[in-house]
Amino acid sequence: MDVIVPPEWEHLFIRDTHRSIVKIPDPILRSKAKPVSRVTERHRLLVDNMTNIMKKASGVGIAAPQVGVAERVIIVSPGNKAIALINPVITRSEGEQVGEEGCLSIPGLYGDVKRAFLVEVEAVDKKGNTVTYEMEGFAARVVQHEIDHLDGVMFVDKADPATLHWRDPDAADSDAE
Ligand code: ZN
Repeated sequence: MDVIVPPEWEHLFIRDTHRSIVKIPDPILRSKAKPVSRVTERHRLLVDNMTNIMKKASGVGIAAPQVGVAERVIIVSPGNKAIALINPVITRSEGEQVGEEGCLSIPGLYGDVKRAFLVEVEAVDKKGNTVTYEMEGFAARVVQHEIDHLDGVMFVDKADPATLHWRDPDAADSDAE
């Protein structure tokens, strides 16, 4: 789905050193990210950089294409802890949940998305070790949103169109991924 940004929200889409997150309609957000064949120091730096950018933007998750890198690396931070996942794959999913999502690459737009309630995710951590996480509820929502980014899929593609609306992304209840 293509998003038309209302004039009053256009300032949020400027990308500069202060707001370094890639925004629509940058084509990297619609491309398929490449798997990481071997975790190197470059990926550890990428993970640290992504974590810092996400925290600065008060995000709850971020994917490498959102910082301009088309590789399969995501950070999920549904609570206080930030988890870096390289080459994440959903190996099991159960149930469903409907909840509101926003995206750091479409600041100000929110809408309800149906997701699996529980997912098991296999990935590689920044040391190169295979890790498996079982996530449910909000954490499961965030990881599904971020993995979608690696395939060029954005939440607006899956959102119930009737629920899509613009509001101030700096409002306290406005989580974005
Ligand atoms: Zn997003």
